[in-house]
Amino acid sequence: DSPTPRFRRVLLKISGEALMGPQGFGLHPPTVERIAAEVKRLREAGVQICMVIGGGNIFRGLQGSAQGMERTTADYMGMLATVMNALAMQSALESMGVFTRVISAIPMDQVCEPYIRRRAVRHLEKGRVCVFAAGTGNPYFTTDTAATLRANEMSCEAIFKGTQVDGVYDSDPKLNPDAKFFPEISYDEVLTRNLKVMDASAIALARENRLPIIVFSLNAPEGLVGVVSGRGKFTIVS
Ligand code: UDP
Repeated sequence: DSPTPRFRRVLLKISGEALMGPQGFGLHPPTVERIAAEVKRLREAGVQICMVIGGGNIFRGLQGSAQGMERTTADYMGMLATVMNALAMQSALESMGVFTRVISAIPMDQVCEPYIRRRAVRHLEKGRVCVFAAGTGNPYFTTDTAATLRANEMSCEAIFKGTQVDGVYDSDPKLNPDAKFFPEISYDEVLTRNLKVMDASAIALARENRLPIIVFSLNAPEGLVGVVSGRGKFTIVS
């Protein structure tokens, strides 16, 4: 039996590092294509899809400021990195026949669309994948917070946070074989235990709006469409 999605509209958040594949930096085209193919399957299953991709594979504001650059300038560079990743994802998706719009929080009209909420909603209704780029458009934020903000604005039913592990544990399962897995956990517990799900401001924003966060592995056996259909291993933060 083929998986049946449980959601009508979701936001998929992946870090920039998810796109670098086996390399230590930048974009690895086969990896971008593999994720795009998963997004395509989910779209074909009828789900409306928003995406937020980080920029850590190219540049992070904190890393720039540690090297003596002004923090706000470094953060703008990080936001620009997310635009590059979004364009790479758009290119991969469109080469597979999936109509995609890149929508930037910082207007750059020659490159992509500016963020206009009602226009983005319309794209989703027409079945286009919307990749939200440039984070929130503000320094001192992260793309986790941008993902939560856009998911709320777009009335997504959940955020799917793709990671390298299959959910939330009380310690790093790659280092500790006895790490305890949580099938479900509350926002409060994530915050008090300081678990690395998303940063604290993103968790707080999700909690305020009762937006569930589903943490899953980008290497899940039944893929993204399986996870969105409730199959396999993942953690629900709610
Ligand atoms: N960033 C920002 N404001 C935002 C989102 C991102 O200033 O609203 C900058 C920040 O410098 C961050 C970088 O963009 O380090 C890349 O985003 P992030 O670290 O969230 O990427 P990820 O870790 O998910 O790859």
